[in-house]
Amino acid sequence: MTEIHLTGRAASPGLAIGPVTVLTAAIESRRVPGDPAEEAAALKAAIEAATAELAELVEAQRGDAADILKFQVAMLEDDALAEGAFDAIEAGTAADQAWCAALDAEIAGYRSAEDEYFRARVADLVDIRDRVLMRLNGADTSAAIAGGSIVAGEDISPSAFLAADWTRGGAIVLAAGSSASHVAMLARARGAPMVVGLGPLSWDGRPPALALVDGDAGTVIFDPEPETRRLFEQRMSAASVARAIADADRVKPALTADGRRITVLLNIAAPDDLKGLDPAICDGIGLVRTEFLFEASQGLPDEETQVAVYRRILDWADGRPVTIRTLDAGGDKPIAGLTIDGENNPFLGVRGIRLALSRPEVFRLQLRALARAAVHGALKVMLPMVAVPSELERARELLEEEIAALETKGIACARPPLGIMVEVPAAALCAGDFDAAFYSIGSNDLTQYTMAAARDIGAVADLNDTANPAVLALIARTVEAGRARGVEVSLCGDAAADTRLTKALLATGLTTLSVSPVAVARLKATIATVSP
Ligand code: PEP
Ligand code: MG
Repeated sequence: MTEIHLTGRAASPGLAIGPVTVLTAAIESRRVPGDPAEEAAALKAAIEAATAELAELVEAQRGDAADILKFQVAMLEDDALAEGAFDAIEAGTAADQAWCAALDAEIAGYRSAEDEYFRARVADLVDIRDRVLMRLNGADTSAAIAGGSIVAGEDISPSAFLAADWTRGGAIVLAAGSSASHVAMLARARGAPMVVGLGPLSWDGRPPALALVDGDAGTVIFDPEPETRRLFEQRMSAASVARAIADADRVKPALTADGRRITVLLNIAAPDDLKGLDPAICDGIGLVRTEFLFEASQGLPDEETQVAVYRRILDWADGRPVTIRTLDAGGDKPIAGLTIDGENNPFLGVRGIRLALSRPEVFRLQLRALARAAVHGALKVMLPMVAVPSELERARELLEEEIAALETKGIACARPPLGIMVEVPAAALCAGDFDAAFYSIGSNDLTQYTMAAARDIGAVADLNDTANPAVLALIARTVEAGRARGVEVSLCGDAAADTRLTKALLATGLTTLSVSPVAVARLKATIATVSP
């Protein structure tokens, strides 16, 4: 037996070794076409049951995992998805075959889409197809994934990923897949190494027994020779010692090798992200994305709900600063009923602060809730996607009006510092012109706008590079503006957690980085190695 080396694209970092579980879609066609009315009723019932099952799963998940399952529920609830299947049933096709054909056509369309966003949603559609089929035929369509295994397959569905226990190690290696997919986001959040785009995984009927996965380099070795395995295990134990040290040091302040103190803040998408975390691991919260509040199917969140959520986060932070970003809908974050449908280029459209100012009733309510919550801790308010100073000034006027109204009614409130995200090159170039209480660099958007390379299009991923000198120059310029005005500058985009960039980012003069909780230990360990 010779070992097989494959190289793909790194989608989630880390090393793993384990037995291989090959994912197979064992879907069998078991239905004999009956009366079209019966077949249609069976499909309708299966879709409803699958939707209910997913809705139940949503309840058990939080954050991104819940959002992904909600996306699937929304797809299933869209009548257009099954329209072709019901037509075929009327023409005499069995329900399962009709459903499969309709979904396969949809999947083929997504797979060949120009836009990486749609290609990355293929696994969700496969998931939906199989869940309904399972209801229709009672067949189990996904291999059971034992904890600690290396899951190999064409692609993996989010619900198959969520059903496995990733606390026991393991990894995902895919022939296709995308680093922008929902599963890749989940794998990064749960610390499961993942490699995508390996090309055809053909083993002539004899699947490999064992695999070594390097999620940093994007490589996989199937059926390694004993010496290859020994060397890999050596690397793994060195990495796990380093990780244990980093984990233990997570609660210590971050210091560079030459003793400079770096402020490390957290990015969160919902208060649940803080569950079980020791606040001592951070110096505060640098970014609360509030979009989750507005995505609930029951409509816009009321003032009391918002105050309660902001207060929960402030309570957790226990006096540390908490930066809450006002609604950043639009672009890659559409919200039904709020954002504008059919924009030619949503990334350059009515998103972030532009949308907030165009929906003052929604924005004012959030500002009011923030001013009320500010009584309970060191709350800071951050505006997304600001391009010109007048947007900051208009937001300030609205905030002042809401504070005045609250005071008139005798409702307790405070005036939080008002800062801006720097994610539009115009704002970075002229940062000093903004009367902001702080700047937080959104490197995800700043990079895509500077490089004209969208953050969700795999074909231009090489250009979407925060390490490009042009992006680093804009970051350095913002840092300089902050220094001149005596206000804090932080960076809260994904680049803050990419430890390959830490040295370059600190070299721009940045002293504050904000990352997701899972990235804190690795970031602090890397900071400790940086010297001028
Ligand atoms: C960013 O653009 O870097 C950022 C932090 O905002 P988001 O990723 O939510 O657009
Ligand atoms: Mg952004």
